[in-house]
Amino acid sequence: MPELPEVETVRLGLKPFVEGARIEKVTLNRADLRFPFPKGFAKALTGRTIDSAGRRAKYLLFRLDNGTTLLSHLGMTGSWRFEGFSHKDESRYYPAGEDRKHDHVAMALDHPEHGRMTLIYNDARRFGFMDLFAREEDSPYLAGLGPEPLGNAFDAVGLAVSFAKRAAPVKNALLDQRVVAGIGNIYASEALHRAHILPTVPSRDLVTKAGAPRTLLEDLVGAVRTVLLEAVDAGGSTLRDFRNAEGGSGYFQHRFAVYDREREPCPTPLCTGTVHRIVQSGRSTFYCPVCQKRPRH
Ligand SMILES: [Zn+2]
Repeated sequence: MPELPEVETVRLGLKPFVEGARIEKVTLNRADLRFPFPKGFAKALTGRTIDSAGRRAKYLLFRLDNGTTLLSHLGMTGSWRFEGFSHKDESRYYPAGEDRKHDHVAMALDHPEHGRMTLIYNDARRFGFMDLFAREEDSPYLAGLGPEPLGNAFDAVGLAVSFAKRAAPVKNALLDQRVVAGIGNIYASEALHRAHILPTVPSRDLVTKAGAPRTLLEDLVGAVRTVLLEAVDAGGSTLRDFRNAEGGSGYFQHRFAVYDREREPCPTPLCTGTVHRIVQSGRSTFYCPVCQKRPRH
């Protein structure tokens, strides 16, 4: 399932080819994905120019020249790719490797530099969805989201406010999109391992009685940024290698420290622990019981 770094990688791959492109024609091969397409979807997009390719949490946001935003969530298997570049030398970056029966949306684009191409949305399991809205604050998907973990608004002081009264385990708090937007199951485990915090620690234990962040909470903020940025970098190098980009079906393979590594040695230098797996709120959590600790008061 694509998480924030994977969505960011998709965005970076699309950006140079969609920004400034005019949408000439939109073809829908079915009426719905996870949800029906909004009414008048193809018509609303046709003739518009894409001003920017943005992202909020795990949502791709194509902002159009009339102020409308096209939101795309990739679900579990959604992907965007290009085909049919009119500039031949670029087509090799985006091989047609997908099973075309899962091509649900095709947009004919005309870009001032790159010429004509088709942008295709493919989604085998159809957990992805799209929406259109005039103002981002009107979108039910974007309203109420917490700060972006890679943005300036995400810091230990703010997180301390969210955590102060929470008895829930810190792993669960990190998955709460109102606390911080876009962190999924994989990077929650990775960040807690990086910060050496046990995933079962009650969130409020990372905050002092006066409401200030404890050192471990500051470490956690740094760890969240680091694991996400490393993954975005890994995705970027995949793009540069032209192996995957938007042309491939799978998302880039990133080597995780603890995620999906049950019973393997902990990668923390000098740690003698092994990776354990527990289930929290129905989701697997991977951690090292030796180097991940609870805060000392
Ligand atoms: Zn360890």
